Amino acid sequence: MELLWCEIDDAALIENVRTFRTLQGPNVRLAVAVKANAYGHGLIDSARAFLEGGADWLCVHDSRDATILRTAGIDAPIYILGPIATSDLEAAVESEARMVVYDQAMVLRLIQLGRPAKLHLKIETGNNRQGVPVDEALEIARLIAESGNLELEGVSSHFANIEDTTDHRYARNQLALFDEAVDRLRDAGHPVPIRHLSNSAAALLWPDQAFEMVRVGISAYGLWPSKETRVAAALAGRGEINLQPALTWKSRVAQIKDVPEGQYVGYGCTFMTTHASRVAVVPVGYYDGYDRGLSNLAHVLIRGVRAPLRGRVCMNLIMVDVTDISDVEVGDEVVLLGRSGEHSISAESLADWAATINYEVVARIGGHIPRIRVRASDPGSPERQIPYRAPKPTQGESS
Ligand SMILES: *Cc1c(COP(=O)(O)O)cnc(C)c1O
Repeated sequence: MELLWCEIDDAALIENVRTFRTLQGPNVRLAVAVKANAYGHGLIDSARAFLEGGADWLCVHDSRDATILRTAGIDAPIYILGPIATSDLEAAVESEARMVVYDQAMVLRLIQLGRPAKLHLKIETGNNRQGVPVDEALEIARLIAESGNLELEGVSSHFANIEDTTDHRYARNQLALFDEAVDRLRDAGHPVPIRHLSNSAAALLWPDQAFEMVRVGISAYGLWPSKETRVAAALAGRGEINLQPALTWKSRVAQIKDVPEGQYVGYGCTFMTTHASRVAVVPVGYYDGYDRGLSNLAHVLIRGVRAPLRGRVCMNLIMVDVTDISDVEVGDEVVLLGRSGEHSISAESLADWAATINYEVVARIGGHIPRIRVRASDPGSPERQIPYRAPKPTQGESS
């Protein structure tokens, strides 16, 4: 019996890809980002689910993940988003991964290798991460064109300020700069067959600006990039988009203790019982990606009831108050993230408590924790019909 595990609903992953397919139409390539262990959802199985749902490409951070996917028998196009160490360049080429390119040195090394490779040039439009100014891009494109073994398959850029705000002037300016850069490359004789700029937020908000490909990450996992994106989507008339979160994170009650009134719980004596309490010990901690910032703030769900954290999150354990939950037993399931009965704990709630974003919450769930694949939910099933509950101000919970 596992004491700490994740259940990943592959049906939800598939459904989310289909949602993006409907939004983008049949002609836009859907590239799904499976970096960071598929945002914590498990690299290989999530990649397979996305492809089953109709994803065209997979995006990884490094050549290691590209090789892992190839070894698993996945032959879909793979695009490496991150830097590639010189020592890994040959493996990257071997895996037939597309690669982002943003300097001449990498192109020169690839020319030396002499093997065919498809490259995507990253343009600087305002993120100041990876991109190169247009003049340098033209120079790199010329090197690629003259190489004989390399192909400039695509041109990309990345939004800096689209999900963090409902004011999209900065993003619109990036879009304009991207267009300008593509025009200059095309004028110089580089055809640039695949242009791609959109992440989840842009794909949700501006499906008409998808170019030839979108790179969708967080929302393929059923999570909105931010509240702002959700508001902007609603304002743009796309409030009906129904993303399906796929990840549930669970543990079990390992011990139940009776703690008298006036006793401290946990390191630093940050919590004192105000009455005789029952405290359950649950084997998850910051080592597992359960953020220490959740100390004394978060709650978990046991038997469908909220149990608040008491004291600090330890390396491998937390303590929760189960005084008011009847019949709790050692071995009972504990939902750390996800749904239990009528209640749910969202990645957004955990993010708010820990002062971070939902991306970090799921991406940091430890790779050592088993991911159990389930297909619980087709979207029509009653399980998925989540009733609207008016938010209660003190509970900080969103659905
Ligand atoms: C991670 C990543 C994406 C996906 O972003 P989301 O906000 O998760 O959709 C797209 N493009 C690049 C370059 C990325 O690194």
